[in-house]
Amino acid sequence: MGTVVLDGVGKSFDGVWACSQVDLTIEKGEFFTFLGPSGCGKTTLLRLIAGFITPQSGAVYIDGHDVTHLPPEKRNVGMVFQNYSLFPYLNVRQNIEYGLTIQKKSARERKDIASLYMDMVGLADFGERKISELSGGEQQRVALARSLAVEPEVLLLDEPLSNLDARLRDKMRAEIKALQKRLGITTIFVTHDQTEALTLSDRIAVFDKGRVVQVGTPHQVYDTPRNVLVAKFVGDTNIFSATLDNGTARLENGMSHGAESGPESRLELRVPSAENGTCHLSIRPQNIRLSHTPVNEPNSFKVRLVERQLNGLWIDTIVQVGEITLRVAELNTVSLAAGPEPQPGDTLWATLPETAIRLLYE
Ligand code: ATP
Repeated sequence: MGTVVLDGVGKSFDGVWACSQVDLTIEKGEFFTFLGPSGCGKTTLLRLIAGFITPQSGAVYIDGHDVTHLPPEKRNVGMVFQNYSLFPYLNVRQNIEYGLTIQKKSARERKDIASLYMDMVGLADFGERKISELSGGEQQRVALARSLAVEPEVLLLDEPLSNLDARLRDKMRAEIKALQKRLGITTIFVTHDQTEALTLSDRIAVFDKGRVVQVGTPHQVYDTPRNVLVAKFVGDTNIFSATLDNGTARLENGMSHGAESGPESRLELRVPSAENGTCHLSIRPQNIRLSHTPVNEPNSFKVRLVERQLNGLWIDTIVQVGEITLRVAELNTVSLAAGPEPQPGDTLWATLPETAIRLLYE
């Protein structure tokens, strides 16, 4: 129970498609994330699944039943909204009991179930509190408990962490994940935050302009992005236009090829493809290695250090070769610490391992 299928779903507002031709199957018990930039149709899709709006095309199935035209209360779906949408005139317990009243549960059942879920989200003693007396994180928990109390087949979470400060967000992220695994409830989570998507999800669908661009596990989406948008949106990366020629990618770096010709005049990299033509080349900052001394390896070349910044765990370094700028992220261990701390203007050697290079064709 709890499988969600979107079959060619599309929704337009005033003639403009907010999402279109969306085909997705979300398996029972999965933590599935809709990830994409603002305005790409994620919330619209969530509202279509919840039943607050109906699509112009396609169908929504829950557990094999076509629910496309069923009202929200007939779908057995719980939703936590971005702004929580709690009832300010009801206290915590009454908010959590609200859906149970609609389900016509007895007063005794409502009390027991509300107590169970208040306990589960760490609000056992908050029953009599007004909503206005709660912090953002506590309100978020009430919203979660209210959605879970009706024991839905599917839980829909619309950016539930976006209103919380960074520390609370990390805490709630861990709590949501633990709760979801414990209950085994199919969960669809909407976010534009790549860290949330990567840390929480079993699978991620990346959206752009209302369309699904890629579906995969966090590793699949991060390690083998399908196109430039996914590579840039899911994690930091260096992206270049390149011309491929039998296993070599040529990155034009703006330096003249004549009198100055030499290893720095243009960048040629060995790449994992024998195709010819143009493409984009992507390499993650943490996959580039820096050295004080020349490295006798393929794809190693001289660079000039532009900027170096310590971020605690990481050291972020900007280097340049010709007009090509590379961002490098090194774990703050001993790699370069063994030598003197490099300064802007210093010469270093960068290595771009062939296996870490991704070629993107759109
Ligand atoms: P965000 O991350 O900013 O919440 P989103 O990816 O969830 O964005 P949606 O809220 O689904 O995006 O909106 C998709 C598009 O549909 C946007 O261009 C938005 O302006 C439009 N849209 C959404 N709801 C309506 C509506 N009720 N009436 C008109 N246009 C709408």
